[in-house]
Amino acid sequence: MNQTKETAGSFPAHPMQVAAGNAAVLEALRRTPVVADVDVLVVGGGPAGVAATLAAARSGAKTLCLERHGMLGGVWTAGLLNPLFDAFGKGWIVQALIDRLIAAQAWRKWNWTHTFDTEAMKLALEEMFTEARAAWWYYSTCVDAIVEAGRIRGVVVESKSGREAILAKVVIDCSGDGDVAARAGVPFEVGRVEDGRAQPMTLMFEVEGIGDYPEQRSSEPLYDRLQDAMAQVGPVELPFGRAKNVPWIIHLPRPGAAAVQATHVYGVDATDVRALTRATVAARRQAHELVRLLKATPHLGGLRLTQTAAAIGVREARRVRGHYCLTIDDIRAGRRFEDAVTFGAFPVDVHEVDPGAAVHSSRITATQPYEIPYRCLLPAGLEGLLVAGRCISGTHESHASYRVTGTCMGMGQAAGLAAAMAAADGTPPSALAGPTLNAELARRGVGLLGSRAPDEILGDLHGQKLVWE
Ligand SMILES: Cc1cc2nc3c(=O)[nH]c(=O)nc-3n(C[C@H](O)[C@H](O)[C@H](O)COP(=O)(O)OP(=O)(O)OC[C@H]3O[C@@H](n4cnc5c(N)ncnc54)[C@H](O)[C@@H]3O)c2cc1C
Repeated sequence: MNQTKETAGSFPAHPMQVAAGNAAVLEALRRTPVVADVDVLVVGGGPAGVAATLAAARSGAKTLCLERHGMLGGVWTAGLLNPLFDAFGKGWIVQALIDRLIAAQAWRKWNWTHTFDTEAMKLALEEMFTEARAAWWYYSTCVDAIVEAGRIRGVVVESKSGREAILAKVVIDCSGDGDVAARAGVPFEVGRVEDGRAQPMTLMFEVEGIGDYPEQRSSEPLYDRLQDAMAQVGPVELPFGRAKNVPWIIHLPRPGAAAVQATHVYGVDATDVRALTRATVAARRQAHELVRLLKATPHLGGLRLTQTAAAIGVREARRVRGHYCLTIDDIRAGRRFEDAVTFGAFPVDVHEVDPGAAVHSSRITATQPYEIPYRCLLPAGLEGLLVAGRCISGTHESHASYRVTGTCMGMGQAAGLAAAMAAADGTPPSALAGPTLNAELARRGVGLLGSRAPDEILGDLHGQKLVWE
């Protein structure tokens, strides 16, 4: 009988030896097939990664994006995150995505910003990738970096197809957690300087049946109503205090539907799979308990939990050390840079690392619109690699502003263009002059601050609320 590859076959066995009293396994040298060779390889299809992929592909580079989930969008889709903060004025790819969501009637004004429909986001991103002729592979986790003589040559990926290698002229790490840079040996920092502790994680969930629930302007009134509801449904241990700036019921474009930001799990290492599993289980239980409580508050009696996110939301993991480290002073001063690639205008939103902390940092840290220099995207001591998204080079405090998705997209589109330019020239991204990149971005309609006054910028940001204290 003829047997096809699907019904029979075998992988070559790799010699291995259990060693060190069962504490380790020794793997023999193995031959890993190279299955693709591209101009630009993007690891991670979250907000930064999709912008990087689209920017590189639209600039003529042969581009491949690797994503471990079965969808593009990262925290937007697998994480059910809403709203989309700090997207206004970013231009080019960011604006193209917003226009696509508006056309699909999947975009809604909410408070000072906007929300989107999660399913429409998945489809819009796949359509945009197809139109840009970008390649992407789902269910593919980057597990190692191929480094030769101080330069990254590609990555090793694991999937149902086995362990495979991909070579690229330029690699962009958009994994959120800085996985590629870390595997390539680039130094990184995590959490606060004093103790390395990072912000808590949140599993978002979506609900329907919110009826005439009014748009929240702050979190405290709902927090108080949850306390009142305990008289009816019994005590529930809330994973946050009154000053935590949660919970939020976030109206979605679909009538009666909302995303809920409320669960909090503290002290979790985002690079420890067992800790991540425990955190996800704990947060999912919190979501179900919170729904029980929310149903006992005014306007929300008809509320139904429709889904919890497939992946817990990680606010903070590795920050890759780069040629420049963006600091809180840069943000306070609204600093501008000759090699600026995007800007941030969001407050410093630190969800405190302890459940009991009484002060929410976004209320005490004055910020001004500030620019992010190209040097924050260039990892220290390694050629051929760029980083974009929440893992760029910055401090714990400044990260709490630039980590929002609109700004991550701004970084991604700049990294994608820079990678395409470097690949076309046959030079490393570090050789690209910041002002040259800056001018090319401006030619594509990317918004930067330049010498404009904060008030003028704020006027342009469609009334987006900032904290100025
Ligand atoms: C609970 C929560 C609430 C937030 N609230 C808001 C908000 O309201 N508005 C807002 O704009 N921002 C908000 N943020 C911030 C924002 O969501 C993140 O900082 C942002 O998504 C970072 O974008 P990114 O592309 O760098 O990373 P991510 O969105 O984390 O995307 C990384 C992508 O890489 C993939 N990936 C990771 N590792 C690998 C690997 N090794 N191989 C292959 N693929 C990999 C992931 O699956 C993912 O798709 C919030 C964050 C959290 C966690």
